[in-house]
Amino acid sequence: MSAMSNSRSRISSPRSQVEKPLYNAYGGFLKEKFGCRVYKVSVDGGFSCPNRDGTLAVGGCTYCNNDSFRPKTASSLKPVSEQVAEGISYLKNRYGAAKFVVYFQPFTNTHAPLESLIPLYEAAISHPDVVGLSLGTRPDCVDEGKLAWLERLARDFFITLEYGLESMHDRTLQRINRGHDFQCWLEAMNRSRNRGIWLCAHVILGFPWESRAEMLETASVLSDRGLNFLKLHHLHVVRDSAMADEYRVHPFPLPGLAEYVDLVVDFLERLSPDIFIERLFGFAPEEQLIAPVWGKNKAEIHRLIVQRLQERNTCQGRLAVVSG
Ligand code: SF4
Repeated sequence: MSAMSNSRSRISSPRSQVEKPLYNAYGGFLKEKFGCRVYKVSVDGGFSCPNRDGTLAVGGCTYCNNDSFRPKTASSLKPVSEQVAEGISYLKNRYGAAKFVVYFQPFTNTHAPLESLIPLYEAAISHPDVVGLSLGTRPDCVDEGKLAWLERLARDFFITLEYGLESMHDRTLQRINRGHDFQCWLEAMNRSRNRGIWLCAHVILGFPWESRAEMLETASVLSDRGLNFLKLHHLHVVRDSAMADEYRVHPFPLPGLAEYVDLVVDFLERLSPDIFIERLFGFAPEEQLIAPVWGKNKAEIHRLIVQRLQERNTCQGRLAVVSG
């Protein structure tokens, strides 16, 4: 799958005379691909996670509390078709939205036999305004049968597999109890490429035991692995996670806002300009968040990152070295 032209999908500096791309935004990519703004509708397919339900482990990733990212409107008690219809109705009324990607978000959204997955996915795409699916999952939870089925679906729909990675460093993956290593993620990417399926990764920046150089190495290494989209997240500690217990007993340093803003800019500089950025930072509901508390809303944090890119007169990919 080749990346589409980046020129019109980039966040640009409002101060420059000539268009000055700062980073490639996922929202702009969708707008260019579909000719209008496309909104995500989050649904809960009622899945569990192999790292929590005993298939692999019971503890889960140490930073994870799914309630911190489960939208209040998504309820596993309602059929997917109903969740989709309600989400679309809300977004149409509020934003005048016309096209939608259904995002299977909480837990591991391919963690079931294919015959159980198909009715859920088909219920989502049966709505006439839905143009695609985005499936949040783990690299050890997608086998050939599921990939082949999604590959067929991708002929008519915009299908994205979002493989959690968090870090390319195995000692981090062990320490946060991910239950897989970097090689597992690479193999999942290799199995998934060249099928017409779009590929996304999720990375966390700010693990206190990783050096800045190690975090930035992730940008370079991910740049030529066939990724289309990337979600960046700062490390935060949320309630009811194993990490919250660790933090309470032995508080560890977490990125301050200014430090994180510079780190993201450094990261973007080293990342291939062919990758579209779906998220630049994490955001947990106030009642879930323990630390770091930055006291800013999403728009303010985004503005600071854009401002820092401008101040440093830099952009995504400026220092990227992509091996052939
Ligand atoms: S972060 Fe994802 S993979 Fe890890 S325990 Fe939570 S749902 Fe499972």
